[in-house]
Amino acid sequence: MSHKDRETEYQYLIARKRLVEHLRQVGILDELVLAAIEKVPRHLFMEAGARYRAYEDTALAIECGQTISQPYIVAQMTSVLCRGSRLSSVLEIGTGSGYQAAILSLVADTVYTIERIEVLARQAKHRFEALGFNNIQVRYGDGYQGWPESAPYPAMIVTAAPTEVPQTLLDQLAEGGRMIIPVGALGFQELMLITRHQDRFDRKLLEEVRFVPLLPGIR
Ligand code: SAH
Repeated sequence: MSHKDRETEYQYLIARKRLVEHLRQVGILDELVLAAIEKVPRHLFMEAGARYRAYEDTALAIECGQTISQPYIVAQMTSVLCRGSRLSSVLEIGTGSGYQAAILSLVADTVYTIERIEVLARQAKHRFEALGFNNIQVRYGDGYQGWPESAPYPAMIVTAAPTEVPQTLLDQLAEGGRMIIPVGALGFQELMLITRHQDRFDRKLLEEVRFVPLLPGIR
């Protein structure tokens, strides 16, 4: 690494520490999650031209008309899933840039993530390899089908919004498992936490959010 590169990396690290302080102030208290945010280089999950904004607490556009979620939302969703302790496995629907999956890889033993746009799935896979996140499995496919081979999951996170919670995903949730999912029409969705108790699925409304839609089939 050149002197200039090292200097840039250092500046990004400072920016991440500042982001973590901001997240604390807006109510993210889980140290496991904050440590993950401090560690994952969010700027490397976006195009070079957008990197100067990587550590603002905002969602940003990525390739293929998709978005990388806002750090606060990533931290909030991850905290709700973990509740202060590590997860054995987690299924993510909507890999996108791969940033959320990278954060999950630091709080879970194994991460499964599905993306319906092939270039995004491929790009994310390369990023995980390059950055050494080696407990993430990426699948190019339709998230509506879930990932039955490794089910049931103690935790699931959906990062695109369906109008209704897909039954296939509920079926793949383990007993006592937790799913966090935005539900609703374009532009207005409610973030929900669903907890499975045998055949009962308890729903808790968390907050209003905006995600891209969960679309059927692969592209
Ligand atoms: N978690 C991402 C945010 C992704 S945006 C991140 O951290 O960057 C939502 C993603 O969900 C988009 O990439 C979109 O292509 C994908 N998506 C939408 N419908 C899907 C489906 N049915 N299956 C898998 N991925 C889907």
